[in-house]
Amino acid sequence: MIEVSALSKSYGATMAVDTLSFSVAPGEVLGLVGPNGAGKTTTLRSLCGIINPSAGSIRIAGYDLQTEGPQAKSVLAFVPDEPHLFDYLTVEEHLRFVGRLYGVADAPLRAPILLEELELTDKRRSLPGELSRGMKQKLAIACGLLHNPKVLILDEPLTGLDPSGIKKMRTTIAARARDGAAVILSSHLLNLVEELCTTLLVIRRGRCVARGSLAEIVAGRPDLAGHSLEDIFLTLTGDAGIPTL
Ligand code: ADP
Repeated sequence: MIEVSALSKSYGATMAVDTLSFSVAPGEVLGLVGPNGAGKTTTLRSLCGIINPSAGSIRIAGYDLQTEGPQAKSVLAFVPDEPHLFDYLTVEEHLRFVGRLYGVADAPLRAPILLEELELTDKRRSLPGELSRGMKQKLAIACGLLHNPKVLILDEPLTGLDPSGIKKMRTTIAARARDGAAVILSSHLLNLVEELCTTLLVIRRGRCVARGSLAEIVAGRPDLAGHSLEDIFLTLTGDAGIPTL
């Protein structure tokens, strides 16, 4: 569903992403993890067509992002860590607008279901300025899900959510994957990544340092066995060896 081949992006002398290749199948949840500056945002923004890669190719549901951009973008949703909302549209007007933009014929039916799922029904007539940070995040996700994307790309999806919102969001993401969406999730919340992701892609300085399920990664590195996810992450992405427990 998502196929990335030798993706590179440089900013002047900085190689933000360096010949990165990976794929995500339908139903798979890929956790993209790495320290600050590792190239996660650059990778996600390249996948959505927001920035042009310096080299490499990206296919979304078989469409080449470079040459078949509109088709590729029509099946994907990107929810950035900072929700971008329209100040003068209410919650339900956002969904109506997105529904028209993507030509979602059954948007009037789907929108109230999504609002209920994301606990926004009471706020449907509110403007973004009247919403909490977590509610804005949920609205951005509702807008992303309205056209039933085959590819869902989420950057820190739990920012600003309360414990009940976090639980709901986990359920929502897992349900989309079960329905066959290919999901990429970037987060520093390692417990979320461990719970939701079927595969991990650990990057450092724009390059892949580990890929596979947690069990596969640990199997390839016996020195990591028995260590916490946090220690494994620090070892894979740090300059030092495994920290002492
Ligand atoms: P992450 O999301 O993992 O923190 P980023 O993709 O934001 O990492 O950044 C990767 C590298 O690219 C960093 O060294 C960062 O400073 C650099 N970078 C990102 N965006 C730009 C930009 N617009 N101009 C110049 N350098 C950038």
